[in-house]
Amino acid sequence: MATLFEHEVALGYARVAVERGVDRFPDGLTYAIPEALGDLAVGERVIVPLGRSNVPTAGYVIDRCDVTDLDSQTIKPIARRDHTGPALPGQLLALARWISSYYCSPMGMTLAAMVPAAVKRRVGMVSRTMIDMAASAGPRAKLSPKQRQVVDVLSALAPEKRPVELRALARLAGLGTTSPVKRLVDRNVLVASTRSAIEAAWVQQAVDTTVPEALTGPQEAIIERIGDALNGGFSAHLLFGVTASGKTEVYIRLIERVVAAGKVALMLVPEIALTPQTGGRLIGRFPNHRVAVLHSGLAAAQRHQQWALVANGTIDIVLGARSAVFAPISDGRLGIVIVDEEHDSSYKQDQLPRYHGRDVAIRRAQLADCPVLLGSATPSLESWHNAAANGSYMLHRLNERVPGMCQPKVQIVDFVEERKKRRDHRVHLLGPQLETAIGRTLDRGGQVLLLLNRRGWANYIACPDHRCGWMLGCDYCDTTVVYHLDRLRRGGRTGGFVRCHHCEAEQRLPEICPVCGNRISTFGLGTQRVEEELARKFGQLVEGETMLRVDSDSMHGARDFHDALRRFGSGELRLLLGTQMIAKGLDFPEVQLVGVINADTAIHLPDFRATERTFQLVSQVAGRCGRSATPGRVIVQTFQPQAEAIRLAASHDYEAFAAGELAGRKRCRLPPFTRMVRIVARDSDFTRCVSTARRLDGRLRALADESIRVRGPAPCPIARIAGKHRQQIELLAETPQPLQRLLAAARNEGLIKPGASMVVDVDPISLL
Ligand SMILES: [Zn+2]
Ligand SMILES: [Zn+2]
Repeated sequence: MATLFEHEVALGYARVAVERGVDRFPDGLTYAIPEALGDLAVGERVIVPLGRSNVPTAGYVIDRCDVTDLDSQTIKPIARRDHTGPALPGQLLALARWISSYYCSPMGMTLAAMVPAAVKRRVGMVSRTMIDMAASAGPRAKLSPKQRQVVDVLSALAPEKRPVELRALARLAGLGTTSPVKRLVDRNVLVASTRSAIEAAWVQQAVDTTVPEALTGPQEAIIERIGDALNGGFSAHLLFGVTASGKTEVYIRLIERVVAAGKVALMLVPEIALTPQTGGRLIGRFPNHRVAVLHSGLAAAQRHQQWALVANGTIDIVLGARSAVFAPISDGRLGIVIVDEEHDSSYKQDQLPRYHGRDVAIRRAQLADCPVLLGSATPSLESWHNAAANGSYMLHRLNERVPGMCQPKVQIVDFVEERKKRRDHRVHLLGPQLETAIGRTLDRGGQVLLLLNRRGWANYIACPDHRCGWMLGCDYCDTTVVYHLDRLRRGGRTGGFVRCHHCEAEQRLPEICPVCGNRISTFGLGTQRVEEELARKFGQLVEGETMLRVDSDSMHGARDFHDALRRFGSGELRLLLGTQMIAKGLDFPEVQLVGVINADTAIHLPDFRATERTFQLVSQVAGRCGRSATPGRVIVQTFQPQAEAIRLAASHDYEAFAAGELAGRKRCRLPPFTRMVRIVARDSDFTRCVSTARRLDGRLRALADESIRVRGPAPCPIARIAGKHRQQIELLAETPQPLQRLLAAARNEGLIKPGASMVVDVDPISLL
């Protein structure tokens, strides 16, 4: 296998990016193309022998060439084609090259991350046959009794319940077989259509087909302006629209124009769980077009199917979370890229390749030469700066909510004052004002959303004696740990365990302080504690029945979350309590009260984006309120009622917040006024970690030109996670180019090897 058989002729050479951490950027490894694979195309997936023992390894052909500088005797041939779908489109390969270079990620791993594992494993495709009455009903005279049963059952169904899946219809008609239904299709009494499993599931949900009576003036103007740009090649647009101002309607009208022109629209949403809600809307509004959904929460078979449908060109609209930016839409067909809630941090991937979905979307639109539209009520300061200050994006504003909805009244409540009003010594996470408002809203029949961006029961476990000062930390991380209640593990009795939120390690809750022997205390707040307080204070709130806690402890996947949202939408659940998961883009008209238990959870984090996050979180969760004619109310509990981020979020004043925050960033020479690369060296051995970081730092300083500031090496704010010590180096420059040159040089020298022991994060969004 190592070399070509004697009688074989090499038909040139291929550069193959293998799916291992081998970082041969940008060229990949060279292999010979055997005669049998003469028609091998760039973008195809192949199996090649790798290393001394020729381990069969998958990779993508990224280039073909006729000659090579290498000794042709030593070049191994490609073993075979890996028949998993069509070749990647050229623009996707170009996108991979850019990601590999810009985000410092090996090309093979970048390509591997683009294609879902299910596609590579060829997990079976599922589709369903959906049956409906034929538009012009054929002769029904000679129907058999069983056929008549089918027709009667189907025609008795309300129009929104149709079409019905083939087997389900047979069951409804009380038949043990589907053949009477199939006969009716043959006779043109019924019609059959094939839908993907996901589309079928959506169709059976209540899909939102409502079209607003009239667009507002600003909506119309924006649709016209961006609509004009649809044929004009690449352009970037920021749609800054307050919550409930009708941004989605703008997206839908633009998608209408794109698909009418025979092109494909690609739309990204930040949260997996938001795709069913948005998907239902798109399917409802585009009944004659095919919508694909791509996200990592899909079952493998569904994912493969959706991906394949996009690749073979049968899809008009692609919707998905971050990874949908890699949808294999053929070159020349992409008509618009939309990034909804563009500020959302879940667009950034926190493992290799560490790309930002929004920025990759912009690059993808550039390659496809089509417009990209970013939308948000709280744009990231990067996007705002590009639109409002330097003009590289066109700015479009929707300053008002759609008619009939007004901005909710936001009330800031000083938590210290609230606590003073209590006479007892119990811990109250709900102050008197929030508590009263919850009671009134529930009595009126309204729904409540409560946000607390902290999981568990208590986030400090410490000795109550301040002179002792002992606090329980994680054995493997330099952080404190969180106490969680666990009713299940102890057979119904309330018990608990202590968990680290950085490495997931668990330990038992100690009873006494190991230093002085005092009984230990748990301090701080978490969603579980609020949940218990709610159940104690409101008889009508029963966990799991009328209220639900939504956080990553209680939700075990997209399906759980989707189910929670469905139950909330139906009115069965009266109150949702959760972390930031509930602050994102949800649209429930009966929410009359939004409460923020503690707005300060992020404000003190040692990260320059902490205030921006706080502003976004408070604004976004407030925006979930009052999405109907009933005015909504928002109560924000905080220990810092004077903090700018909280005050301005309460007065819905994004622009003032952005102006103030940007001035501060400019003064401190921070993004978006600079570009940043953060390199973290990780090692279980502290001395080795420091010396690696120092060596790298020295070499980077030698290679860097004068436009680059090198900061470090220094311990990361969390200096150890999961047993690995962490030392960071920050590189800053006013433009990305010098940083990119430096990274390329360091990569060529083999100094930077992204992997387990080193993280290279370009444009990082978390600095912990
Ligand atoms: Zn830990
Ligand atoms: Zn103690």
